[in-house]
Amino acid sequence: MQNTLPQDKTGSRFSRLLIKIGSSSPLEPYERRKRLSAVFILLTIMFATFLFSIYHFLKGHFVIFAWDCVGFFASLFILLYLRKKETSEVVDWMLGMGLVTFCSVTTIIGRTEISIFLWAFMLPIACFSVMGSKKGMAVTIIFFFINLLLMIAPEQIMHSKPYSSFIVIRFSIVYIILTFIIYYYESSQQMLISYIQHEKEEFAIASKQDPLTGLYNRREMWTRMESERERQLRLSKPFTVIIGDIDDFKNVNDTYGHDGGDYVLITIARLMKDMVRGIDFTSRWGGEEFLIMLVETDLNDGKNVAERIRKKIEDTEFKYKNVNIPITMTFGLSVYKEASDNIEACIKRADQALYKGKYQGKNRVVAS
Ligand code: GH3
Ligand code: MG
Ligand code: MG
Repeated sequence: MQNTLPQDKTGSRFSRLLIKIGSSSPLEPYERRKRLSAVFILLTIMFATFLFSIYHFLKGHFVIFAWDCVGFFASLFILLYLRKKETSEVVDWMLGMGLVTFCSVTTIIGRTEISIFLWAFMLPIACFSVMGSKKGMAVTIIFFFINLLLMIAPEQIMHSKPYSSFIVIRFSIVYIILTFIIYYYESSQQMLISYIQHEKEEFAIASKQDPLTGLYNRREMWTRMESERERQLRLSKPFTVIIGDIDDFKNVNDTYGHDGGDYVLITIARLMKDMVRGIDFTSRWGGEEFLIMLVETDLNDGKNVAERIRKKIEDTEFKYKNVNIPITMTFGLSVYKEASDNIEACIKRADQALYKGKYQGKNRVVAS
């Protein structure tokens, strides 16, 4: 998967830098988006703990200094771990739980220094962007209740005054509204990304297929033939190219209409695909022309396959609107077996053989 994803050129320079820091290989778009937030949060923690560690060390607060160091190295470790992963549930949860812990501490400190409690509003934003809508929602709800308990816990337990009921109610309302706004935003982004992914995949398939028959189109067949050529030259095994053309297809269209002609094309495509091995390639080469590539097959075996297909088509009843359409095909063959050969020349030879077959009276197999 890794190698098929192109390195993304989208986003600002800053976001590309963050992605580069957080991942050693290209990521799927959705994962990339989550990774961006995770790296941003981890770097922020590292930056903050680094500065605070200096401050606390100079002030002689060695216990807090030690906690700063733990925070710094834990974030560094997570970042290095994350770099190697394409997806990481573990890191998602570690970050989620880390954020819950951090915001719980700020809520506790907020009992004496109220402004610190504002960090609680950062949690839904951070969790949704790192964990996605479902897990993000779960952690956001968990934190809501933890936070509520920490706010209203009596003085005897916490050794500080609880938050006023006014603040608790206002916090709850704002937090819930914020959560739903972010949930809506995050899930619509997720939907958009999967829609784009889906369209991209459909487009990739469509660009390789002939829409009528579902076989490979000419362009895709070229690509396949070129890569097969390289592979087979390494293995020094020949492959055979068969070009088949429907005989007097114009008459079929003239007699049975274009839809009748299409029905014949679709049926022939299915027959051909069924009659070759899974490793062979079948394509619609042009209007009523098909090209088959038989891998690791010499001319003699190729001839047998072409003859079998020819016979099958001759014997098949092409029943369209209860009328039997008599169909035959002519085939030209050529083999590719030397490094000095090339695909274009090979196809040309098969084409010439096909032409010869037409000239000799059609419904036959001619090898070059
Ligand atoms: P020959 O035996 O010499 O091959 O004669 P032919 O009539 O088959 O050959 P020609 O090349 O003169 O005609 C091919 C016809 O194929 C003409 C074109 O209308 C038809 N054709 C091409 N693509 C399609 C298609 O997608 N659907 C249908 N129904 N007909 C098509
Ligand atoms: Mg033709
Ligand atoms: Mg024809």
